[in-house]
Amino acid sequence: MRLRSFSVGALLLVPALAAAEVRALRPAGTTAAVGEFVAGPATIDDLTFARQVLPPTGTGDHTAAVAQSRVIYLNKNGVTLFPGENDARTNRSSIATQQTTIPAWNVSATTWSATLSCMRDLFAPFDVTVVDADPGNVPHIEAVFGGSPEQLGMEPNVGGVSPFTQNCAIIENSIVFTFTSVIPQDARLACEIMAQEVAHSYGLDHVLLASDPMTYLEYTGERTFKNQMASCGESTARPCGIGGSQCRPAQNSVTLLTERLGAKTSGTPMPPVTPPMGDGSNEITGGCSTGSSSSSLLLGFALVGLVIRRRRR
Ligand SMILES: [Zn+2]
Repeated sequence: MRLRSFSVGALLLVPALAAAEVRALRPAGTTAAVGEFVAGPATIDDLTFARQVLPPTGTGDHTAAVAQSRVIYLNKNGVTLFPGENDARTNRSSIATQQTTIPAWNVSATTWSATLSCMRDLFAPFDVTVVDADPGNVPHIEAVFGGSPEQLGMEPNVGGVSPFTQNCAIIENSIVFTFTSVIPQDARLACEIMAQEVAHSYGLDHVLLASDPMTYLEYTGERTFKNQMASCGESTARPCGIGGSQCRPAQNSVTLLTERLGAKTSGTPMPPVTPPMGDGSNEITGGCSTGSSSSSLLLGFALVGLVIRRRRR
């Protein structure tokens, strides 16, 4: 009897496994090929945040090119994606392997309005417009709130994903995702995750700065883009880049977003400059050749300790 019921269970599992072809996540900081996905260890709410490796494009790290896509369209209404080179105007996504419909986010008007206003606040210092109506045939980044990671063939604990080029370049008309079926209904969290995903498409990497939305580190306050040089990495310092490529030794989120988007000419002033090492949550690496020195290893252990303590509160 036992064997028979086991067999029935196993048979039931087969179609599910065949249908959901889950793409593996390469550990951040290790080598990864074009098309593969890279992520750090699960942290905030046991979620992880992935990036897909794309080849370098002409708008590289050492050019001062400003993005054409200076409209960020927050789409909570669902979208049907087609595989191909990223183009938000025609719903083509490098992350989709087949035609895929991401359902709408079933969100209250209050939570949505708070999410929109948080995104506007975070990007207020920069020359970019955040909207929640489809801008149509103009260059824009589309930020999709909805669905689950499995619908795009990703591991079930992936909270968000963006493509990312090997030279940390702008991905014009990119489509990025926050998977609302795996995150709490929390406007601030949804906004901060999406701010990270959108900024990836402008070439920003993860940083070891807990108060910046580009972080993997736990933080109790509201994150904003910081005018502060910080080491790239998820839990330990590494040069900025993806899958073994290196773009720069460290990152200042505000400086890089200003370079890629321009500064807003009126209204919100730039966030003040914060000297590095101010709160002990970051460390500057000297250059591309920096390996895991004993000090960065110690910092890594300290940060892991911080995350574990916070999660147990
Ligand atoms: Zn990320």
